[in-house]
Amino acid sequence: MRVPLFAANWKMNKAVSEVKPFMTGLLERLHAIPAKAGTQYQVMVAPPATHLITAQEATKNTPIQIGAQNCGQAPSGAFTGEISPAVLKEIGCLWVILGHSERRHLYLEDDHRVLGRLQAALKEGLSPILCVGETLPERKAGQTMAVVERQLGILKSAEVSEKPLVIAYEPVWAIGTGENATPDQAQEVHLFIRNWLKTHFSPAFSEKTRILYGGSVKPENSASLMKKPDVDGFLVGGASLEANSFSGIVEKGLKSRS
Ligand code: PEP
Repeated sequence: MRVPLFAANWKMNKAVSEVKPFMTGLLERLHAIPAKAGTQYQVMVAPPATHLITAQEATKNTPIQIGAQNCGQAPSGAFTGEISPAVLKEIGCLWVILGHSERRHLYLEDDHRVLGRLQAALKEGLSPILCVGETLPERKAGQTMAVVERQLGILKSAEVSEKPLVIAYEPVWAIGTGENATPDQAQEVHLFIRNWLKTHFSPAFSEKTRILYGGSVKPENSASLMKKPDVDGFLVGGASLEANSFSGIVEKGLKSRS
């Protein structure tokens, strides 16, 4: 049984002074979620890099885990502007989002670059959330699976099978647009990813790897998406900026499973 993961991607939003009140509010709301005894789930928040230490301090000894939104391809060196995965680990980050569509499309990070970051993250013991997903023209041209397969291809060059890895399917046309993939559209791609992992790694690895959906997730659509058997949680942008809406996504998503 895969433990659902709810991951918040704040992108370049919020002031450092907003971190502590947000975490306090989120913890209160998470505690209030009526969960069946034994219901397990994980919550991760990825604030901007400038906020990570504050976020780590604010969530110490709580169930909220902290992640980064990207990392460099080496532990140290002449990489101006990059963030060391070794230092992320040092400050208590457990997670790192890699290959987000904004990195791929606004900053032209290609699969090769994402692979370098993935290998470095794994080497430092960070758990990567690898984002994959097609643009609208690619979907309209019937290339969704080909694009996702190409983006997954980097995993063949990374020693992932023994490490915790999460895949996030994030159709680019659904990110920040208010238009989410339908549960059936999400399930179709998630199943494709699950089968790809089975073919290229093993049935056991495929079964244990969590596949998140991302793209305009909100409390109103989280239950219908989470009902799908291969949707193991969410990567949430806009709706993760308010503790109320993010906890609403967690609550409704978990409820749909009980
Ligand atoms: C994201 O950026 O990963 C994302 C899914 O954003 P949003 O929820 O705002 O669509």
